Amino acid sequence: MVKKIKEAYDRIFKNVFVCMRCNATIKANPKKVNTKSIYCRKCGINQLRPKNAERRVVSVATASPPSGDAKPSKK
Ligand SMILES: [Zn+2]
Repeated sequence: MVKKIKEAYDRIFKNVFVCMRCNATIKANPKKVNTKSIYCRKCGINQLRPKNAERRVVSVATASPPSGDAKPSKK
C-alpha cells in the first residue's frame, strides 16, 4: 500500500517543475531543466523550480499553527 502511494507520488511530482514567474506546472526532464533548455510555455522564462520543494515548504508552513488569533475563547 505504502509503496503504491510512493509510486503515485513519484508519478505526479517526478520531473514536474513550476515556473518561478507564473507558477505554471511544466513536465520536463530534470537534466534539461538544469541546462536551462526548458522554457515556460506561458511566459517564456527558463527559471523553474521542482514541484517537490514547493510541497515541502507548504507542509512546513501549515504544520505550525498561527498563535494568538486562533483562540476563540475570548469574546
Ligand atoms: Zn511561466
